[in-house]
This record gives sequence, structure tokens and C-alpha cells, in this order.
Amino acid sequence: MAVPASAPAPIPVIYVIGSGRSGSTLLGQLLGGHSEVFYAGEVYNYRNSHLHARAGRERWCSCGESVEDCTFWTEIRARLAEDFDDPLVDLKDRDPATFERHNAALFRALLAETGRSVIVDASKRHYRLDLLLKSDAFEVTIVHLVRDARAYGQSILKTRHKAGRPASAYYTKMWNWQQKNLAMKAIYGRKPRYELVRYEELAADPAGTVSRILRHVHLGLQEGQLDRARHSFHDFSGNLRARLKNVRPVRLQTGYLDKLNRQRWALGTAMVAPGLLAFGYPFRRDATRRQLAALTPDG
Ligand SMILES: [Zn+2]
Repeated sequence: MAVPASAPAPIPVIYVIGSGRSGSTLLGQLLGGHSEVFYAGEVYNYRNSHLHARAGRERWCSCGESVEDCTFWTEIRARLAEDFDDPLVDLKDRDPATFERHNAALFRALLAETGRSVIVDASKRHYRLDLLLKSDAFEVTIVHLVRDARAYGQSILKTRHKAGRPASAYYTKMWNWQQKNLAMKAIYGRKPRYELVRYEELAADPAGTVSRILRHVHLGLQEGQLDRARHSFHDFSGNLRARLKNVRPVRLQTGYLDKLNRQRWALGTAMVAPGLLAFGYPFRRDATRRQLAALTPDG
């Protein structure tokens, strides 16, 4: 591709990091309801999702179509085909120049197709954030999404139980939660465009939390933005179940408060105490209950 005489303005990207099962789809959709914001989900899978779909495996766009049949992604591929022999550009290429060329091209196609100006990338991968930050083509706002480790652990237990696997994963996953989130905070926490968002705050006060993030990209909350049922989304990170949940009103999930037994609560808490402290989560169950009640307006 020819090098333009003057470099185009950097693309504003809101990049979500965190531990998974922490509400990143919810957050992305609440942001993506804004007329200037496109929620791209785990967009780093762009090429793989198509290749898997072509190999006969199910890969859904959140609009309900397969990524191959979705008219939106068909338009995006057509736009990329103007500049690339293979429109399925590899966003995972770690060579900085290739990474920048591929990612900027896809982001610009997404923004041109939707008439929007900001991308939300919920890929969560650390190397990817690093490459985005090192490139002048992007202006990155980091949203670090954290959820109480015990809620995260309980959600692991739930799926392990369904899959008939042992429950020891609860502790190892909680340990990973702590390592990962403390590292993220240490590396990025002092950057000017870094926003720490607790899932619990997001679910209890979506308007306030989303407004706080939007300020980084100089936008304000719009009427109807948070009503997810009113908007259509085209990201291919979610599964069918997640897609069906989209129309439900936002509700803070508190099942872990009752479902975790005493031993799991106490041992898990002791193990990740520094992490809980760093992100403002009380150690005791009753104190946690009181904190959540105080977050929710109708308590
Ligand atoms: Zn679609």
C-alpha cells in the first residue's frame, strides 16, 4: 500500500482487559449502544472465525447469522478486498508493522461501514494491547474490568460442575485472577487513559459507569444507549446463549454469596486477599453483601 503524505488521525480504541466472565460482553454492548461507538467484541478472532466457519464449525455473529452469511461482515470483507488480496487479514500477526496495517485497515472498514468513530475491542489479550499502544495509528483507552474473585470462582465451579470435572479449578482460577489483575494494575494503572471498572459497579449503575468511560473518548451518554434490546450488534465472540441473554435487563449477579460453602469462601478469600484488597472487595461475606446493597440504588 502507498504511504499517505500525512498520517491519518489515530483511531480511538477502547480496549477491555480483565479475567473473562467479568461482564465484558455486557460492557461492550452498553458502550456500543452509542451512535459513535462500534462494539467489535473479541475482534482479534476475525480471521479464525471465518476459517472455522468455512471448515463447517459453527461461528455465529451476534446478529444471529453465521459470520460468513452476516451481511455486515460480508460488506467488511468487500471493503478489505479493495486493499488486500486476502480480505481475511490476520489481526494476530505480531510483527508491529503488519499488526498496525491489518488492524488499522479492519478498524477503518468497521468505522466507515457504520459511520462511527470509536472502536471497542474486548479481545483482552495482553500482547495485543501492547502492540496497539506502541503504534501511532491508535489512541487507546484501557478499561480494566474486574469482578469479585469469589464470584469469578463460583462461575468457574458452575461450568465445571456441568461438565462433570473436579472443583479444584476454583482455587487455581482464583489464583490466576489475582496474578493477572494485580499485574495489569501495576503495568497500566498510572496511565492517563486507564479506567478501572468493577463489574459490580457497572451492573448496579450502568449509566454512571458507562459515562465515566465515554469521557475518555470525549462522548456523553445518549438516550436509549443502555437499552440493549434496541440495538443490533455484529461481533462474533459470543455464543448462542450469550446472545439470547442480551435482551434481558442488566442485573447484578449475586448468587455466589449464597452458593459458596464456608470453606471455599474462607480459603479462597485468604488466598487472594491482596487482590481483593487492591480492588476494594471486603473479605467477609456479610460485609460483601452490605457493599453490594449500597451500590444498588433500590438496595
Ligand atoms: Zn452480524
